[in-house]
Amino acid sequence: MSYDNNNIFAKILRREIPCIKLYEDEHTLAFMDIMPQTDGHALVIPKASAVTLFDLPDEAAAACMRTVRKIGNAQKQGLGADGVVLMQLNGPGAGQTVPHFHIHVIPGSIGDLRRPHATVMADQNHLKALAARIVAALA
Ligand code: 5GP
Repeated sequence: MSYDNNNIFAKILRREIPCIKLYEDEHTLAFMDIMPQTDGHALVIPKASAVTLFDLPDEAAAACMRTVRKIGNAQKQGLGADGVVLMQLNGPGAGQTVPHFHIHVIPGSIGDLRRPHATVMADQNHLKALAARIVAALA
């Protein structure tokens, strides 16, 4: 699938728009979802330009999973989450709304995902407070 350099996550990677950052390394960035489906809902993205899993080089996919593991563990520790749900949508046919590959890292249980997908903006201060607890647990 062809990659649109002006998608919102490409702009976040270029620091053209802000995000509430949780973690960054050479290959990945993790930040808070602004329309979370549970408290603590985070996103992990590769720095490589890819729309779906099927466009993503193996090394970038592995780097994303390493970061997902860090974030999920920090959500368990920092937020007291019993479980962590991973979600990853490929293409508009799956309901993907941002065309840069990402993995949703969602603390809680599948039954907690009652808030609709990518719909309701959360309060920024609330997101920042949750992010601080996740970041503290990463240390
Ligand atoms: P998708 O539908 O592509 O799997 O998920 C995209 C996710 O990105 C949604 O959960 C949505 O809430 C989130 N999102 C959309 N725009 C922004 C944004 O500008 N900043 C952040 N942090 N998250 C966003």
